[in-house]
Amino acid sequence: MTLKISISVPAVRLPTRNDRKSRLKLLDSNDESYEKIVHLFQDGWLHKKKSFPHLYRIFRIETAEALIHPYLQYYDSVRRVTGKASDIEQLLFHGTFRACALGETEDNVRLCRLAQCSLCSIIRSSFDIERCGTRRNFSRFGQGIYTTKCSSKADDYCSSERSDLKLRLLLVNTVVVGWQNKCTRNKKSLNNPGTGYHSVLGVPGGDLNYEETVVYNNDAIRPAFLVVYGEAPPVPPKPIVARAAVRRLFTAPLVS
Ligand SMILES: [Zn+2]
Repeated sequence: MTLKISISVPAVRLPTRNDRKSRLKLLDSNDESYEKIVHLFQDGWLHKKKSFPHLYRIFRIETAEALIHPYLQYYDSVRRVTGKASDIEQLLFHGTFRACALGETEDNVRLCRLAQCSLCSIIRSSFDIERCGTRRNFSRFGQGIYTTKCSSKADDYCSSERSDLKLRLLLVNTVVVGWQNKCTRNKKSLNNPGTGYHSVLGVPGGDLNYEETVVYNNDAIRPAFLVVYGEAPPVPPKPIVARAAVRRLFTAPLVS
């Protein structure tokens, strides 16, 4: 079952604690969501010193209805305040710590139970402000959930302690941004977006080099897609010898 809102949030009838069923569905490259996410990823790769990575695959995250409903209720409450004229919802990137091999292959789609695996925790239960930023010493706009349009910035926060993991993963999230409190200077003591606002938008030019969006309500965000990327696979050597042998076969005289 898919619930329709301005950015469709996939929702399925999963019991909240049922982890036997995979939460990840591989997106077909013909799927309209695939193309949209690719464009967001490409347009958001702004760090000139980082070479653009190879995109391996995109998964759709299936979220239990029990988790989607509070998001939709929050969405409606913000919509009632802002009216229909404004675009209150965005798809934004979030990079986090991964302790398992989720996404390394198309078949590796089962969430792990490792307590330190933030990625699987977010996919399973969505974001928790209490847990956000526990690996970071610095939170520019206080205790909130940090996302960004800038995929190459979110990439800075992808991490893993396993050297055997070659790929990197970014969450793409539906975020109710509502009215945005635009800030160019750090405000580290924030625990809300400010009176009348629903999120903080960090604007480049002051203390920031790249945009970031912060929400302070767990129900303002849900993970929706997972982008898997990394260095391009090695190009297989061209079969020069075989090709030359075939050419010789066809150019050789049949009988002398
Ligand atoms: Zn995991």
